[in-house]
Amino acid sequence: MPGRLSGKTAIVAGGTRGIGKVIASIYAGEGAEVLAAGTNQEAGERAVSEIRQAGGSVAFFRADVRDRKQVSLLVDHAVALYGKVDIACCNAGIFPSATLEEMTDDDWDTVNAVNLKGVYLVVQSCLPHMKRNGYGRIVLTSSITGPITGFPGWSHYAATKAGMLGFMRSAALELAAYGITINAVLPGNIMTEGLDDLGPDYLQRMEEAIPLGKLGDPEDVAYAMLYLASDEAGYVTGQTLVVDGGQTLPESLLAMNR
Ligand code: NAP
Repeated sequence: MPGRLSGKTAIVAGGTRGIGKVIASIYAGEGAEVLAAGTNQEAGERAVSEIRQAGGSVAFFRADVRDRKQVSLLVDHAVALYGKVDIACCNAGIFPSATLEEMTDDDWDTVNAVNLKGVYLVVQSCLPHMKRNGYGRIVLTSSITGPITGFPGWSHYAATKAGMLGFMRSAALELAAYGITINAVLPGNIMTEGLDDLGPDYLQRMEEAIPLGKLGDPEDVAYAMLYLASDEAGYVTGQTLVVDGGQTLPESLLAMNR
């Protein structure tokens, strides 16, 4: 039986670990030819070998999304390998914590460069190829932090994740004329290697704040990303899909019916 992405090609920027690795794996499992990108060669090769073992068609390309030249080479490589770019998943992101009192210009610039400029560079570099085919699905990994909620220590991160949505809405209007859609998934707290660093106390307190009673799995985000990358989502653009176990619903602790 053909997969939901059979015949499609996908770039997953930040597709080597955590949520992105599972997105790459699910896209490949649904029949897409995938090019996963990240800065760490070893992690990238490990991810690709795991996905291939499960039967998926995937390759790794080392690219830093902050750098226009590297992003351009990434997109060129996808076209050389697979002939076209149908799907671009902008998932690369970092979330170092720094309060406003301790934050440096370098902290601010680095988080903005990866999380926000990286999205602009990937989308802009894919555009000519998608435009030529009159088809494109662009999906962004935003967050509940910024667009909906706040968290001390993450003002720079929150600004990038909200900024992505402003970018997306204007881009959606420009890209619609070419048959290209762009949408964003807003994950809540998802259990990945990246989140592991925040410690068991953080994780337990987070679980207590989630109506569905547990942190999300990368698969929860990846299946939302699959829908938005598929033909089925062809009439959806400039929209957001929150995947947070209900975390942003309760108006106070009293509303937590657990
Ligand atoms: P993760 O495990 O740390 O993975 C981050 C991915 O981004 C890796 O593949 C990493 O590859 C890549 N990356 C980082 N900097 C890059 C750069 N400069 N150029 C290219 N790739 C880069 O994080 P995650 O938890 O899966 O998060 C993935 C995305 O989901 C992020 O955008 C994050 O903000 C968002 N998100 C996560 C959560 C959560 O609870 N986990 C919640 C909301 C939103 P390399 O290390 O090889 O560069």
